[in-house]
Amino acid sequence: MSIDFATRWQTVLTRIRDAERRFQRPVDSVRLLAASKTQPATAIAALAAIGQRRFGENYLQEALDKMAELKALDLEWHFIGPIQTNKTRGIAEHFAWAHSVDRLKIAERLNAQRPNDLPPLNICLEINLDQEPSKHGLYPSAIAEVARTVAALPRLRLRGLMAIPAPASDFDRQRQPFARLRGLRDRLSADDGLALDTLSMGMSDDLEAAIAEGATLVRVGAALFGPRA
Ligand SMILES: *Cc1c(COP(=O)(O)O)cnc(C)c1O
Repeated sequence: MSIDFATRWQTVLTRIRDAERRFQRPVDSVRLLAASKTQPATAIAALAAIGQRRFGENYLQEALDKMAELKALDLEWHFIGPIQTNKTRGIAEHFAWAHSVDRLKIAERLNAQRPNDLPPLNICLEINLDQEPSKHGLYPSAIAEVARTVAALPRLRLRGLMAIPAPASDFDRQRQPFARLRGLRDRLSADDGLALDTLSMGMSDDLEAAIAEGATLVRVGAALFGPRA
């Protein structure tokens, strides 16, 4: 079983390094977040044993259970699922990053609930690029004001933007939403002087297109763990 993990992990890392080279990105400029929702703690431990350190979880209680099991390991936990208001305390107390902040109210609660003995919580704003009502995320027109406010909250550190575009099979079509997310980030940096170093974009099926457009962190599940049940 761990042979499989090692093979898949190496394959994903090779895809990332190949894409960095092909699209003239600096070596090691793209980080790998293992999206481990629904995976057992044993699978996370197997990846950790071969060198994976960053894990992304979508469901708070499931994540807390796995963190407790794996607390002897030095892992960095990222929350990447939708955030309801009653989940903010657990996220603020147990995670290093939250990628899916899509409302000011959520950011304000995370700021108020982040324990003082922990460093500021790293934040990405999740963007609903196509303004699809059924999806999570800030509409592009709302980003600037929310970003300015979040950047001023002392217990949060605004790092960048995250999006989950609709799947597309064609490489050029995959690139388009990622290019738009990069454009939004660039405009925030230019107009508001925000130093945003993170573009959290790209998954198993489109990570090369995301890296071509400037991803600094790709969130990969199926390609590491095998297809979800
Ligand atoms: C599950 C998940 C991923 C990983 O998706 P794969 O297609 O399995 O690579 C990435 N981001 C988020 C927010 C997810 O929920």
